[in-house]
Amino acid sequence: MSHPLIVIGAGLAGWTTVREFRKFDPDTPVTLITADSGDFYAKPTLSNAMAQQRGPAQLVTTPAARMAETLKVKLLAHTPVLAIDPAQRLVRTAQGDLNYRDLVLATGALAIRLPLAGDAADQVLAVNSLDDFAAFHTRLLAGRAPEAPKARVLIMGAGLIGCEFANDLAGTGHPVQLVDPAVAPIAALLPAQASAELQAALTGLGVQWHFGTTVTAIDQAAADEAVPGALRVTLANGQRLEADLVLSAIGLRANTALAQAAGLHCERGVVVDASLRTSQPHIYALGDNAQYAGQDWDDPAKAPVAGGRTLPYVMPIMNAAKALAATLAGTRTALVFPLMPVAIKTPALPIVVAPPAPGTAGGWHSVSAGIWQFRDAQEQVRGFVLSGAQTAQRMAQSKLVQL
Ligand SMILES: Cc1cc2nc3c(=O)[nH]c(=O)nc-3n(C[C@H](O)[C@H](O)[C@H](O)COP(=O)(O)OP(=O)(O)OC[C@H]3O[C@@H](n4cnc5c(N)ncnc54)[C@H](O)[C@@H]3O)c2cc1C
Repeated sequence: MSHPLIVIGAGLAGWTTVREFRKFDPDTPVTLITADSGDFYAKPTLSNAMAQQRGPAQLVTTPAARMAETLKVKLLAHTPVLAIDPAQRLVRTAQGDLNYRDLVLATGALAIRLPLAGDAADQVLAVNSLDDFAAFHTRLLAGRAPEAPKARVLIMGAGLIGCEFANDLAGTGHPVQLVDPAVAPIAALLPAQASAELQAALTGLGVQWHFGTTVTAIDQAAADEAVPGALRVTLANGQRLEADLVLSAIGLRANTALAQAAGLHCERGVVVDASLRTSQPHIYALGDNAQYAGQDWDDPAKAPVAGGRTLPYVMPIMNAAKALAATLAGTRTALVFPLMPVAIKTPALPIVVAPPAPGTAGGWHSVSAGIWQFRDAQEQVRGFVLSGAQTAQRMAQSKLVQL
């Protein structure tokens, strides 16, 4: 019997690749190996679950067993892949070795951890999976009667994910403080005026900001000065804050450990060409662990197609999975990304951002209230930001952008 297509990872990238592949090929054996349960959920719902009063169980949209049955997949859940041997075309797990026809790496990203001092530094949580969310949700509600004051949350990082959590938590009655070395929220993606409007909207929900500094230490607060179990957070500027829970949202880095150990070319992610091929034959990658089109393996002199970037968002995964499925089914298909605006889930001020490609020279221009365009030296529109009611202009603005 021929070896199966093996997919490592049961996130959006892994499952979507299988779903798309089945549209082309209903019969080739597929094995999906994952370190987690394999239950299917939409990861973006982790940062707006509280407002919807959804706990971890309600976020699962399709249980793993049903996914496996519907897609005719052999699922190995709770099975971390320990190593890949590209020469033998096999993957190693604690349950044994498995040979592959082709291998897809969809191992996602890992939360970046800041080295912190203090006797409670290990209590910092990050939410990048359903299991992480379950731990966060438990800590948020632990031992609190419904009428008791809500847990105070300090969020490290006022980027996209930090602001989404801030909105969700503050909007559901949690006192929220945000700490970030930048000078404004989502400063890396937004023009200053849009950041300021978002900051004002979240301040309206009671969010408190600590910009231009970072967290350096987290300790258990002394019993006589705080609510039992409270944490004392020390900032680089010397300020001391108190919180019941510290959430880190300082960013993710591609999970390249397996690929690196197997000798695959990795930079900020596992480098793939336009057909999502890694530097080793029969091994492909997509999703948060991939660095897209950093190379053309057949013609290394050719310029990188998409600027060699990681794109840790849903739309790139949906596009990449479709192209990869076609390639795996026998028709080599080059991935061409369309414009992929990202909706920031901050209901206090909804924002849609279509950032310019990294390295694009130019600047932000205010077009009218709630609309900003990023224009290059030739006055070409290369990206946009929309806020509030102007988010409805997403299609119209998208048509103006030169990719
Ligand atoms: C809170 C939050 C909100 C977000 N909101 C948005 C949004 O609004 N819009 C948007 O576009 N994007 C959003 N994103 C980003 C988007 O959700 C991710 O880009 C996407 O879900 C990543 O999917 P993935 O399959 O690449 O990775 P993951 O979902 O991380 O899946 C990785 C899989 O690999 C498995 N794995 C890893 N290592 C191994 C191993 N050695 N062996 C076996 N299995 C392994 C894991 O168990 C897991 O199943 C958000 C992200 C977060 C964290």
